[in-house]
Amino acid sequence: MKHGHISDMVAKALDGELLAGEEISALLSVSIKTEESFYIQWAGRTISDQVSLGRAEVHAQVGLNISPCFNDCLFCSFARINGIFSQQTETALEDIIARCADFEKNGANAIYLMCTADFDFDRFIDCAAAVRAALQPCTVLIANIADFGPAQARRLKDAGCAGVYHALRLGEGSDTRIPPERRLQTFHAAREAGLKLGTCLEPVGPEHTIAELVEKTLIARDATPVYCGAARRIPIAGTKLAGYGIVSEARMAHILAVVRLAMGFGVPGNCTHEPNVTGAIAGANLFWAESGANPRDDREQTEKSRGTNINDCRQLFIEAEWDVATGPSPFFS
Ligand code: SF4
Repeated sequence: MKHGHISDMVAKALDGELLAGEEISALLSVSIKTEESFYIQWAGRTISDQVSLGRAEVHAQVGLNISPCFNDCLFCSFARINGIFSQQTETALEDIIARCADFEKNGANAIYLMCTADFDFDRFIDCAAAVRAALQPCTVLIANIADFGPAQARRLKDAGCAGVYHALRLGEGSDTRIPPERRLQTFHAAREAGLKLGTCLEPVGPEHTIAELVEKTLIARDATPVYCGAARRIPIAGTKLAGYGIVSEARMAHILAVVRLAMGFGVPGNCTHEPNVTGAIAGANLFWAESGANPRDDREQTEKSRGTNINDCRQLFIEAEWDVATGPSPFFS
C-alpha cells in the first residue's frame, strides 16, 4: 500500500475499532481507481462476511399508495413539486396482502410496507395489522413511513412491526421540507418502543460533499441501526436534481464499503439500492425487491419498471459469491 495512513485506518476498522469522522473522510476521499479503494472494498466485504456469517438478505417492499406529497423531497417522484403524480391512489388491501404473501412465498427475509408522508397513520396501522394477520407469525414486517412520535411507535410495535426503515437523508431540510431534528426524534421514538432501525446513507448524488457524507454516516451510526449502507439517487426525469446526474455503481461500491467500515462490527447489515453485483462484491449484504409505488420511479407499478424481484436480487448475490439467508431476517432477529 502506497498510503500508509489509509491502510492504518482500514486495519483499525478490521480490528473492531470505530473510525473517527476525519478517518471516514480520508477513506471517502480515496480515488476509486486505486489500490487503496480496492483494499477498502475488500475490507468492507470481509467485515460484512464476518458479521452476517456469509449470508446476504433480500427484503421486499410493497408501496401502498401514490400521492403528490407535501414534503417535497426533491429526489422523490411523489414530491408535489416534481409534478410526476397529481392524483392520490391507494392500493386495495386485498392486493397489498396478495403482494406481501407473494413475497413471503418467494422467500423474502423481511417485508416492508411503504407509504407517502401524507398517508393516514390509523389507516397504515389497520393495513399493517391485516398484513400481519395474513402472514406467517415468524415473517418480519417493517414499516417505511413518515416521521412519528412515541405513541405512534408503540402502535407500530403493537401492530406487529419488528422495525422501521428511516433515514436522515442527504440534503434533509434543504432538499426536503423536513427538519433534520424530526428524523432524529423518530429514531428515538422507534428505539424507545423496541422497534429496530434499518437506515442508509441516501440518496447519494454527485454534488454531495465528503463532509456531508461523513456527517450523515456518523448520525446513522449513532442511531444504532441493524443495517446501514449507501444508495445512490436515481434521477427522476425532468426534476431539478436530475440535472446533477448519477453516481456510478463503482463509486457507490467504494462509498458503501467505507460506510461498512464506519459502522463497525455491531451492525450486521450493509445495504445498497438499487441492487447490483459491484456493491455486493464490496460488502453489501442487503438488497430490496419492490412492488407497487416507488419514490425512484415515475411508473405506478415499479415491478413493471425499475423494481427488481426477489429471484433477481438473489441471483445478483450469487454472482457476487454470497449465500442468501433463508427464513426470517437475521438482521432483525
Ligand atoms: S420521500 Fe417521503 S416525505 Fe419525501 S416527498 Fe417522497 S413520500 Fe413525501
